[in-house]
Amino acid sequence: VPNPYAERRRRLAALLEEARLPALAVSHLPNIRYLTGFSGSNGVLLAGPGNPVLFTDPRYDIQAREETGLDVRVLRGPLWPEVAKTVARRKLGAVAVESDRVSHQTWLEFTKALDGSARLKAQCGLVEGLRSVKSEAEIEAIRLSARCAMTAFERAIKRVKPGVREREIAAELDYQMRKAGAEGPAFETIVAAGPRSALPHARPGGERVGTGQLLLVDMGACREGYASDLTRMLHLGEPGARARELHAAVLAAQLAGLEAVRDGVACSAVDGAARRSLRRHKLDEAFTHSTGHGLGLEIHEGPRLGQKSTEHLAAGMVVTIEPGAYVEGFGGVRIEDTVVVRAGGAEILTTLGKELLVLET
Ligand code: ZN
Ligand code: ZN
Repeated sequence: VPNPYAERRRRLAALLEEARLPALAVSHLPNIRYLTGFSGSNGVLLAGPGNPVLFTDPRYDIQAREETGLDVRVLRGPLWPEVAKTVARRKLGAVAVESDRVSHQTWLEFTKALDGSARLKAQCGLVEGLRSVKSEAEIEAIRLSARCAMTAFERAIKRVKPGVREREIAAELDYQMRKAGAEGPAFETIVAAGPRSALPHARPGGERVGTGQLLLVDMGACREGYASDLTRMLHLGEPGARARELHAAVLAAQLAGLEAVRDGVACSAVDGAARRSLRRHKLDEAFTHSTGHGLGLEIHEGPRLGQKSTEHLAAGMVVTIEPGAYVEGFGGVRIEDTVVVRAGGAEILTTLGKELLVLET
């Protein structure tokens, strides 16, 4: 398998040249990981046409060399003054930082350290743009991640019964993900029962799940650094008409969203397809978030699939399709799949059934 990192850095260098930027100081860790393979928690990568340099601290001395094979500078103090020194020594004239990722304080300190040796430029989204289209190897990692999540879901729901706390179900899901080969959950697992399922990002709490309640499970694994994202609905005991109708309406919207996915389509059109479907059930007002998001090294990446999105889907993007409808005081339904955008449509990686899973009580 060829090392993908050098090729990614070449593509970044081409973008920098186009933008007339001699160098980019990359500090967003998922971007560094994408460009070098470095998985530590502190670093700055000076990327550009010349030799890349990775600045980090002594905790990552061995790891950074092993993971990247690059020129690694290990520093006991702050990294940015050393980045500035290298910029000055190389006579680059200008350097950009990821302006949406550095603090104002870092900007000031870096400016001071550059001491007029190079102009400081603001740049954002360059590496993220590269990351939004995945290679087949990346898609395989996300596929494995989705499998971990699905295996964990199937094992953990066997333990769901009235009286169990949301937090215990979330812990079981996380445990089963790790047992299935995940490094951990890709985000804080959401388990929300009854009226709490109407909170799209409910934190699992001490509440006990009861008979006659909807139960929302939103989970994802992290595998080889890559995230997956999956939401399914359960019901404890026989559901009433209202829960069934809500579920059926959201499922129809989710299928409409999936149907709209293909190479070249506007992200806003995918969102529109799901939203129109919910409008037919007078539930568009109850759909309070966007239809989906890209994912990969991070759980939320570009593109966003919302009403105001201006991006278009491209083959190789991996996105979620996750419409929902939330009724205060009653409960909410969301159904979410992780899918690969292909020329002919969506390839679904989260292949679990999407029916309302009725648990005997
Ligand atoms: Zn999710
Ligand atoms: Zn999601």
